[in-house]
Amino acid sequence: MIIDCHGHYTTSPRTHEAWRAKQIAAMRDGTPVPPRPVITDDEIRDSIETGQRRIQRERGTDLTIFSPRAAGMGHHLAGAEANAVWSSECNDLVHRVCSLFPRHFVGVCQLPQAPGVSPSNSIAELRRCVQELGFIGCNLNPDPSGGHWSGPPLTDRFWYPLYEAMVELDVPAMIHVSSSCNPNFHATGAHYINGDTSVFMQLLTADLFADFPTLRFIIPHGGGAVPYHWGRYRGLAQDMKRPLLRDYLLKNVFFDTCVYHQPGAELLAKVIPVENILFASETIGAVQGIDPETGHYYDDTRRYIDAIAWLSDADRQRIYEDNARAVYARLTAQLDKQLAMDGATI
Ligand SMILES: [Zn+2]
Repeated sequence: MIIDCHGHYTTSPRTHEAWRAKQIAAMRDGTPVPPRPVITDDEIRDSIETGQRRIQRERGTDLTIFSPRAAGMGHHLAGAEANAVWSSECNDLVHRVCSLFPRHFVGVCQLPQAPGVSPSNSIAELRRCVQELGFIGCNLNPDPSGGHWSGPPLTDRFWYPLYEAMVELDVPAMIHVSSSCNPNFHATGAHYINGDTSVFMQLLTADLFADFPTLRFIIPHGGGAVPYHWGRYRGLAQDMKRPLLRDYLLKNVFFDTCVYHQPGAELLAKVIPVENILFASETIGAVQGIDPETGHYYDDTRRYIDAIAWLSDADRQRIYEDNARAVYARLTAQLDKQLAMDGATI
């Protein structure tokens, strides 16, 4: 089975995200927020069949761990209350996708974060998504200010109440910023990669996982700049008299394969232990074109993993399936449940 651990509902019906714009405008103007649009099952089916399901079929992947569009979270665009409404709408829509396509999508939730607001404010929605909607993880925005980095680092006790809930529910978080309010940082080209890299460095300097030995983070986009600069990070840890990275970070921190060229994927697989790599493509997302050097889509990441000659079949099995099932500890049971609902067996 090939599990893509990183997909967003980027193809949601247009009325869904249009409502968010109306919600923000209404708050700005002090007018009533218009009612939510009615979105039919057919609209959802169509958006998935022509989008993510088509890509799964074309590329031979089976299951996507699916969450609301990351750039659409926009935690910095509104306050906690409006973000709570928006998050629940986004999560409900992902839940509908998973219910309509139970063999192919399992949900991960957006949290109703807001700048300066305690992460404990997100716990109720996390619980609802995991316990009622069958979601298996969350996307955690390390910078809900959208580019100002005005909050404390993820290692600060500020975040601990949320981690306690994640540990209790046994769900991991993908570390994922949203859109950028700062034109210096292009959202997917700079802000995302900055977020990934910055959080790894935060984790390196602290002892978060001594306090939460079972807490698990996925750093997406191939780990940002981290694998490429692995010697820098090992060296920084050594200078700070820290233990070896593999001993105090790699039991808890995982990287996905959203690196959109062959040498990058090979470097990732060479530098990061295979146990810490989860297959992902982030389709349909940041980069949608065809690489003229190869004739294939940049984000067809399966090709890169398949083409790494020195990976064994066992390595590939881990990257494609086993690591995702281990990190997303609720995945196997949830998938069994969804397949049963679909009247199918593995
Ligand atoms: Zn993403």
